Amino acid sequence: MALQLYDTLTRRMQPLVPQHAGKVGIYVCGPTVYNWIHVGNARQLVVFDTLRRWLARTGYTLTYVQNITDVDDKIIARAQEENLPAEEVAERFLAAFLEDAAHLGVRPPDAMPRATQYIPQMIALIATLIEKGYAYAAGGDVYYRVRRFPEYGKLSGTRIEALASGARILPGEAKENPLDFALWKGAKPGEPSWESPWGAGRPGWHIECSTMSTALLGPTLDIHGGGMDLIFPHHENEIAQSEAAFGAPFARLWMHNGMVTLSGEKMAKSLGNVRTVHELLQRFSGDALRLFLLSAHYRTPLDFDEHSLEQSQAAVRRLKTTVQNLSFAASHAVQGEPAVAEAAKRCIRRLETAVSAALDEDLHTARAIAALFDAVHEANQLLQEGCGAEAAAQLVTALEDTAALLGLEGWAGQTEALPAEVDALVRERAQARMKREWSKADALRSRLSELGWTVEDTPLGPRVRRRA
Ligand SMILES: [Zn+2]
Repeated sequence: MALQLYDTLTRRMQPLVPQHAGKVGIYVCGPTVYNWIHVGNARQLVVFDTLRRWLARTGYTLTYVQNITDVDDKIIARAQEENLPAEEVAERFLAAFLEDAAHLGVRPPDAMPRATQYIPQMIALIATLIEKGYAYAAGGDVYYRVRRFPEYGKLSGTRIEALASGARILPGEAKENPLDFALWKGAKPGEPSWESPWGAGRPGWHIECSTMSTALLGPTLDIHGGGMDLIFPHHENEIAQSEAAFGAPFARLWMHNGMVTLSGEKMAKSLGNVRTVHELLQRFSGDALRLFLLSAHYRTPLDFDEHSLEQSQAAVRRLKTTVQNLSFAASHAVQGEPAVAEAAKRCIRRLETAVSAALDEDLHTARAIAALFDAVHEANQLLQEGCGAEAAAQLVTALEDTAALLGLEGWAGQTEALPAEVDALVRERAQARMKREWSKADALRSRLSELGWTVEDTPLGPRVRRRA
């Protein structure tokens, strides 16, 4: 089965069909760097990192872009509170964010554009929207003319009339219509600002993402991701801006992860009920936190409680101990029972088939984790029944491979990085197999063999080894 993902826009499961075969461009909205990230932010990071790992394993070449919002009301407010320049606040929390992400096994994105590096491009995009009649300057600000975009509301399923009934223009706003949102905000004293054709000011949050995603991935993204709380208004506004400016669909697939709740309430800085990753990492490992965050399907809400986190911590320990015991058996060349060796093979096949099917079905990490721990349980039984060296080594590889796929890397044996040439051939072969070009795939296997590498195709992707 090929990968199916739930698309928020069409409200159904869709196969992933990128614009260019074998290549996927993903844009995920990154943090506003004004505070420590909380468990809810971490869920998004971990979910999309797992998607990346699965896509890479199945042979796709990815360009994964995650932006950093480093100019925003919240950053400015914190800077004023602490009597510091806004850049200093942004720098400090960007560093903290990167450190937390690394502890969670989240790989750095391929590009991490910062809003303040794209101001000229944002000004150009706003100018295009004005030229096309979708935006207007008023009182030092620039606004998007929402009623000019008939499809407004299509992502969130919001009716424009319903929005209009509750909306009011606030004092000091020069909008034509209460629904219009700011693309450019005129400078206020003491705030960071940039020169523009409409006077000094700074960009609105929504235009930042439309600009940076297009600059790095073109006008149509293969996948746009973020938390469900961003669907409206942020992503709705991104669609309105980008589709009006470029006349092309903004994203082929929209993925949104569910929120983390605390006693059933959404965790949000504004509600004051957040648990920060920084604080939790003092007591729990990054792997335990990651396992907990992947323990529910990514679209369902996840209620945070420390008891579940303790269970995840214990589960990671169990996995680690099992792999250690298997490794011990593997390095002590014992002739095992043939029946046990057969059972180990079946266990590995079941694990790999189940994990592959689970991840292909809308990234069902909860089922993949269940399959991993079924295999851990079975492996422990096999050890007791007399597992030989070879079967034990095969079990180690399968368990470590699955753990690495889920990003549980704090303990997994460091897998050797492939030389660039070998990696490129492996990818090319995976893409040939995707297109059912079998003779090309075979030729690439021979080429790898000449270079001294063997490839084994498993449900979890190609397993590459240097030939002994
Ligand atoms: Zn965004």
